[in-house]
Amino acid sequence: MATSVVSLTKKPEEREIQHLKPPVPASALEHKNLLERPDFRRIPAYRDVTDEQFLDHHWQAKKSITRPDKLLEALQGLASEAFIKDATEGFARAPMSVRVSPYVMSLIDWNDPYNDPLRTQFIPIASRMLPDHPKLGLDSLHEQEDAPVPGLTHRYYDKALFLPLDTCPVYCRFCTRSYAVGNDTELVDKVHLRVDIERWAKAFQYISERPELEDIVVSGGDAYQLRPDQLRHIGETLVKLDNIRRIRIATKGPAVMPQKVLTDVEWLDAVTHVVDLGRKLHKEVVLHTHFNHPNEITGITRDAMLRLFERGITVRNQSVLIRNVNDSPETMRLLVKRLGHVHVHPYYVYVHDMVKGAEDLRTTVQTGIDIEKYVRGSTAGFNTPTFVVDAPGGGGKRVCHSYEHYDRTTGISVFHAPSVKAGQHFLYFDPIDRLPEAGRARWADPAEHAKMVDEAIEATNAKLR
Ligand SMILES: *Cc1c(COP(=O)(O)O)cnc(C)c1O
Ligand code: SF4
Repeated sequence: MATSVVSLTKKPEEREIQHLKPPVPASALEHKNLLERPDFRRIPAYRDVTDEQFLDHHWQAKKSITRPDKLLEALQGLASEAFIKDATEGFARAPMSVRVSPYVMSLIDWNDPYNDPLRTQFIPIASRMLPDHPKLGLDSLHEQEDAPVPGLTHRYYDKALFLPLDTCPVYCRFCTRSYAVGNDTELVDKVHLRVDIERWAKAFQYISERPELEDIVVSGGDAYQLRPDQLRHIGETLVKLDNIRRIRIATKGPAVMPQKVLTDVEWLDAVTHVVDLGRKLHKEVVLHTHFNHPNEITGITRDAMLRLFERGITVRNQSVLIRNVNDSPETMRLLVKRLGHVHVHPYYVYVHDMVKGAEDLRTTVQTGIDIEKYVRGSTAGFNTPTFVVDAPGGGGKRVCHSYEHYDRTTGISVFHAPSVKAGQHFLYFDPIDRLPEAGRARWADPAEHAKMVDEAIEATNAKLR
């Protein structure tokens, strides 16, 4: 008894504790090692830009790049001529619009743009494109088929997806909503979902007429693009609906332009107002964002996320599993831990949807299963994302390893969704170039396509019998 009292009064250096574990290497703390300020002045176009300008969301939005000649201009003397030519051709062939913020431009390694994870997500390169999978279509998730009002998808029983507008602060090559989001490209005439108070009113009315709806995802497009008064209007209307208990406001913004959270005070006040009003009315209002790679999280991001944290705003993250971006276990673990470090909860990792012009970005369902196994256990359970496949055909999100059947040779997995669309089979198709030789050979023969699908369905039914 006496000795323990004495030891409590000892100075730390006099106490000897058996640690049991060896000291951790610096690499184990890499998630805390943030790049404080991107070195944006190494990009010729930003050489004379001040820190204040770089931190200003107006400047970030105004200087975002949407045309290949502007990209060329920004990178004069930095990236190789061959790369610029490849990107210019990529812009012309991409079904998705291109828009890249200076923040993202400043995080890309221009000495090796081909392998850079941010370049891969936002700037299409003709030489890396792969033919689309034969089973792929625009709106692979059938969002439009489940839409009673344009821009309102009611697929799941108690939750709905509301798309108030169709623009974003950047355009992602892998966007599931390429059917609507962004400008018309040479290849795709889009369904436009413009800011339209009348359309919104119809969506609110539908929501109020469905008592089973409790949960609204306000997505887009992107809430970063909404004016503060529009955000207030949407938020106030939804939190006041009796049946609505939960609202999520989705924005890619923090990942590609964290400056806005710090310098667009009116916008942040509008978000805070809706969150606070929700809390008073006992409704949950949170932000959902979309980081895909640890390099997207800098000191600016941390400052922005801590600003939200101080205001009591919960932020969750949804990532897409993207080839050469985050499809390695180590990168995904670093992303998950870094998100946790800046108080963002990793919520989902989506196996890449089947969208046009992005075949080089997809991975297999097996990759998702393998990475999930590696990530789980590395941090808090509530910060461990669920790896899901958003099954084409409108089956909704299914946990990767919950397939009914999975043929790794043909790359076909079959999912069931009893609470969404009971009795239906939902098929996902791994990218062909990632299949074993036998699988690639079968996909090379169009006569085999229907056969492979029939086999998968037959195998699933046989298992159930
Ligand atoms: C993802 C999604 C939701 C929300 O689903 P959660 O699993 O609750 O995140 C709602 N509606 C649609 C159409 C969706 O795609
Ligand atoms: S921010 Fe979201 S909606 Fe906009 S282009 Fe990217 S993935 Fe699509």
